[in-house]
Amino acid sequence: MSPYLAFCIHNADQGQRTRIEPRPRPQPTAGEVLIRVRYSSVNYKDALAGTGRGKILRRFPLVGGIDAAGEVEDSRHPDYQIGEAVIVTGWGLGVDHDGGYAESLCVPGDWLVPMPVGLDARAAMILGTAGFTVALAIHRMQLNGQRPELGPILVTGASGGVGSIAVAILARLGYEVVALSGKPDLHDWLKGLGASRVIGREALAGATRPLEKAEWGGAIDTVGGELLAQVTRTTAPGGTIAAIGLAGGSELHTTVMPFILRGLSLLGCNSVDVPNPLRTELWQRLADDWRPADLDTLLSETARLEGLPAIFERMLNGRTHGRILVEI
Ligand code: NDP
Repeated sequence: MSPYLAFCIHNADQGQRTRIEPRPRPQPTAGEVLIRVRYSSVNYKDALAGTGRGKILRRFPLVGGIDAAGEVEDSRHPDYQIGEAVIVTGWGLGVDHDGGYAESLCVPGDWLVPMPVGLDARAAMILGTAGFTVALAIHRMQLNGQRPELGPILVTGASGGVGSIAVAILARLGYEVVALSGKPDLHDWLKGLGASRVIGREALAGATRPLEKAEWGGAIDTVGGELLAQVTRTTAPGGTIAAIGLAGGSELHTTVMPFILRGLSLLGCNSVDVPNPLRTELWQRLADDWRPADLDTLLSETARLEGLPAIFERMLNGRTHGRILVEI
């Protein structure tokens, strides 16, 4: 069969190298599905993987891209027929299995989610892994009793892909949202997405004691490090913090005080291997009552494969915002 083009990451003596190259089109084996990818997206993990600045890849060479949406080209899985629209995020995609930065993608059918009514491939990848992770975080927070009456939800790294979707969905669900962002020029954009207030990264710098004035009913944290520690000190009794990311650091130095005196919960969110049927259920919510009002407002740029290396650099240097779609 005809070859297809893919964004491949190679491990060379001088470090990682990326190249767009033709690859032989895979033939699905039993249980697998071949997808014609239409859209992927750029997530922080893609930038770490594509630059080699995070030890993400488990084998080389590998096609990058931790998410994809398109339609079934060939199927050896009983649940998927040719032409059906599908989404795939996480699992081993772009880590130890070829990912979504390619015209064709062959994956186990069990990794797929049928495209829910209300989304198409483009909309699904504006949301992408970022949106799915926000849905997982909100799902876990609500199961843990988070509700609007407990007070505003703080979203850190608010201008980022995950953060901006969190602001939009929480606002849609009736939560008051406080966005914490290091980008003053994007404060109005964040308010447009639904934040009632935007604060700078320095706002919590004085929160150094184990318990400080309780300001948030809960939080979605994409930054980690010292900022997450400050959030634990300033969240109200009974609140839940969803820990999603490490854009500001992977360490966490805090005390048990907020947990044992305020009953705080710190819930870890891992979007990679969420099993079905929860995976399908969360995508259905993203297509329906959790869908951000205007997906295109979340989109900052649309890229092609050749533009990815420059975008990865900008993202790791904090010079991107919102969601970046990749058109294949
Ligand atoms: P983005 O780069 O789009 O967003 C990250 C945001 O964090 C930036 O926009 C910036 O927001 C803020 N930020 C960046 N550097 C720093 C810093 N040094 N100190 C404080 N804030 C900083 O990335 P994504 O939204 O794609 O991902 C965010 C995080 O979530 C990443 O760590 C990613 O790995 C993680 N993630 C985890 C998932 C999971 O399953 N657990 C799934 C998806 C993402 P601002 O300028 O507004 O402050």
